[in-house]
Amino acid sequence: MAYDMQGASDGSSIYLGMPFDLDPDAPERRDQDFEAPQRRTMGAGTTGLAVTDVDHKDRLNMMRTGQLGSVHSWELVTAVDGPGTRMTVFMAGCPLRCLYCHNPDTFKMKDGEPVTADTLIKKLKRYRPVFKATGGGVTLSGGEVLMQPRFAATILKGAHDLGIHTCIDTSGYLGANCTDEMLQNIDLVLLDVKSGIPETYKATTGRELQPTIDFGDRLAAAGIEVWARFVLVPGLTDAYDNVEAVADIIARWPDNVSRVEVLPFHQMGRDKWESLGYKYQLEDTEPPEPELVERVRDQFRARGFYVK
Ligand code: SF4
Repeated sequence: MAYDMQGASDGSSIYLGMPFDLDPDAPERRDQDFEAPQRRTMGAGTTGLAVTDVDHKDRLNMMRTGQLGSVHSWELVTAVDGPGTRMTVFMAGCPLRCLYCHNPDTFKMKDGEPVTADTLIKKLKRYRPVFKATGGGVTLSGGEVLMQPRFAATILKGAHDLGIHTCIDTSGYLGANCTDEMLQNIDLVLLDVKSGIPETYKATTGRELQPTIDFGDRLAAAGIEVWARFVLVPGLTDAYDNVEAVADIIARWPDNVSRVEVLPFHQMGRDKWESLGYKYQLEDTEPPEPELVERVRDQFRARGFYVK
């Protein structure tokens, strides 16, 4: 999931920079005054969209057909998760266990809320003028969006049918779950390349690197725009050779990677690990010094990439 923000369940928001009150559901709209930066969250682990009146069997059927998903939360954001103002939907469930994950409360699909595709698509429709005005759209994040490929496919198609720009934010580990038809409804992929050396990738995420490369190759063949992302963690992912290996991987896709984002590690997820009873291994890790961030950005710039 996107790393430049914190998950939406605990209310401990950080800047996400939506300048106007753009929520059509807000009791009062103020279209002129700038407001303090804010994020739209459902708070306390709920989504505000959840269905409550569907029995267990129906829920399973709806999940199988992509009509129902498990959603952690959603928010409206600007300048993150893709271009313009976006509705970012955090899906519940992730097969990775990144040591730096700041949203361990999205690890398990069962911890999300059941939300119908119809409800989400209706919400997207109401935001369409905002998306149009800002060049934004919808971003499906997580957790891992490709844990729920049928639900994701329904949302992406529904959004595309409404003319809304679509994006998924993924590690690519479950790229095999993404059908070719689904790819046709994706405008942008935020692809996390979490390390370039396979052993470092495994130490960082608990999983293998190769599926991410395979998915990136597919995106390149399909000509889908990619923003490649790399979380820089001192002592874990920052080795010069590891960054070079990430750059080697991204350099496989020169025509469709339009930017590389280097995301400095932060400690904003630490308390969640503790409160969930998980062991947090980066307790003593400091955020990278600016010089280190620049060194890494320069490594990507040296390959000719636009780097943020
Ligand atoms: S474990 Fe990794 S991929 Fe999964 S949500 Fe956390 S940071 Fe994202």
